[in-house]
Amino acid sequence: MTKTRVIRKHSRILKATRSESELAPIHELLYNASVSRSPATSERLRERGLNVTAPRLAVLAVVEELGGHVDAGAIAAAARDRLGSVSTPAVYDILNALTDAGLLRRIQPAGSPARYETRVGDNHHHLVCRTCGAVEDVECVVGSAPCLHASVHTAFPIDEAEITFWGQCERCRGI
Ligand SMILES: [Zn+2]
Ligand SMILES: [Zn+2]
Ligand SMILES: [Zn+2]
Repeated sequence: MTKTRVIRKHSRILKATRSESELAPIHELLYNASVSRSPATSERLRERGLNVTAPRLAVLAVVEELGGHVDAGAIAAAARDRLGSVSTPAVYDILNALTDAGLLRRIQPAGSPARYETRVGDNHHHLVCRTCGAVEDVECVVGSAPCLHASVHTAFPIDEAEITFWGQCERCRGI
């Protein structure tokens, strides 16, 4: 579960009685507890047929902790903080392996570097801000892929319709 989701889930319950500054440490505790309860990262690598290595564990953990949709540069920097040293090409190789194994999802909105997220296995889509590049998840209204069907019938089996909604985020509109 991403940090944002953990926080969102518990905020509703806690907000009624506490101020924002009182909530921050509670959020941190809840987040750490939820991470330690989730199946061990090494187990998830093994299940997908990947050898467990410290750099792979670190990369998966930082994508989870950073949350949302993060680019390889930010992931490499965070992985280096954790491991001491790991080269950027090595991080790219790991991101590819984790994506191929279905542990990460890669999206690449036009004009943006590839971004990675841990929300896999559903058919969600994305809202992208034209101005700052912020990315938000949006649920698929149909639920399963492909949720749009091509107008031509071919012998080409289509298994995905990639949908990106473009607009301007609230921050860029000054709201
Ligand atoms: Zn924006
Ligand atoms: Zn997403
Ligand atoms: Zn859809």
